[in-house]
Amino acid sequence: MRFSGWRVLKEGLTGNKGWRPHWRNPQPKAEYDALIIGGGGHGLATAFYLAKEHGLTKIAVLEKGYLGGGNIGRNTTIVRANYGLPGNSEFYSHSLKLWEGMEQELNFNTMMSQRGVLNLFHSDGQRDAAARRGNAMRNQGDDAELLSREQVRALVPWLDFDNTRFPIYGGLFHGRGGTARHDAVAWGYARGADSRGVDLIQNCEVTGIDIEDGRVTGVQTTRGAIKAKKVGIVVAGRSSQVAAMAGMRLPIESHVLQAFVTEGLKPCIDHVVTYGMGHFYISQSDKGGLVFGGDLDFYASYAARGNLPMQEHVMEAAMTLMPMIGKARVLRSWGGIMDMSPDGSPIIDKTHIDGLYLNCGWCYGGFKAVPGSGFAFAHLIATDRPHVSAARLRLDRFETGRGLMDEEGTGAQHNLH
Ligand SMILES: Cc1cc2nc3c(=O)[nH]c(=O)nc-3n(C[C@H](O)[C@H](O)[C@H](O)COP(=O)(O)OP(=O)(O)OC[C@H]3O[C@@H](n4cnc5c(N)ncnc54)[C@H](O)[C@@H]3O)c2cc1C
Repeated sequence: MRFSGWRVLKEGLTGNKGWRPHWRNPQPKAEYDALIIGGGGHGLATAFYLAKEHGLTKIAVLEKGYLGGGNIGRNTTIVRANYGLPGNSEFYSHSLKLWEGMEQELNFNTMMSQRGVLNLFHSDGQRDAAARRGNAMRNQGDDAELLSREQVRALVPWLDFDNTRFPIYGGLFHGRGGTARHDAVAWGYARGADSRGVDLIQNCEVTGIDIEDGRVTGVQTTRGAIKAKKVGIVVAGRSSQVAAMAGMRLPIESHVLQAFVTEGLKPCIDHVVTYGMGHFYISQSDKGGLVFGGDLDFYASYAARGNLPMQEHVMEAAMTLMPMIGKARVLRSWGGIMDMSPDGSPIIDKTHIDGLYLNCGWCYGGFKAVPGSGFAFAHLIATDRPHVSAARLRLDRFETGRGLMDEEGTGAQHNLH
């Protein structure tokens, strides 16, 4: 079933009776060539690229709940490639290029909107840091523009520029950044993988990982044992728990991150705006809701819901930056479980167990990574070699200390970045 303008017109004129389910609901088979644990954005993208780029089709994605019920459907949908350090820089740059072709590649409307991401700065020191980051982005081949206070005012006149504590000095603008509809990304990859023969198995929790003589042989699930010579763990906030099934202790802590959405308003915020000093960022959805968030909740937890103190903190930051938001009514808030790595950068690597691969450490920024991560993880699983874009995302950097990518310069404490 292909989507096109003609198809929409035809279905509209014939009662919308021709649409079909986007994927099958298969029973798990006894054996596959590769198993992907986790049906979030990264797991589904991995399965898609395994089938599309490497021709593997005897693959299953095992999801304990429903597809897209995890962080992929809970994030604030920001897509960007504005990292400064080698390792992250080339990875996110590659990911953004995949975003730019995603709708055509998947034949699915993910509502990708390159409306620009504006990072504000509030001191001379922050301006220097923004200039340095912008130069790194341009060296990588991505776009960045350092804006003066007046140029920022022309874009977002409703901000409080003269706030006594954090007056706005200017901003770093990344025009190719923006937003996309998060669950459509999961659905698009699911549909693309299913149409290439991948079995997407929902309500199937992995409860054990079978290992013989240092080699993975399959998994135990709530729907029975499944054999496979290659198994990829892509479970975001549950990474430590699933890796523990293989006897591994990961350098990952799970923390809650909350987000908020207001009632629908007329268009008033054209870009994504981030306010690092107050820990607040905002964009406006295509339905009109103001979508915003802030910091982690600062305690390790596996509960996908937040707490009132951080809600108060985020609202205070919102009021400081843009007092007009006080008139909007918040409709909903929710939380997700972040897989926080010590240096704030991800891991895509083999483990010490043959055939067992690991993809985690996305912290609060894994949505924009979905295509790049799926592409690189599929490459690793299929070829046993890292993809060039992800060669530095190694697990052993936390053991050896070599190659750490401390993007925020906050040290090795999970909840400080
Ligand atoms: C509030 C919030 C805002 C965010 N904002 C942004 C943003 O603006 N931009 C950005 O880039 N990133 C953002 N993120 C981060 C981003 O959403 C995550 O980094 C990313 O979605 C994680 O990868 P995933 O999609 O594969 O995770 P998930 O969707 O969580 O997928 C993991 C899946 O594994 C499954 N699973 C777990 N254990 C098992 C098991 N034992 N067996 C089988 N399945 C299992 C889970 O059910 C889940 O579906 C945000 C996150 C949150 C919560």
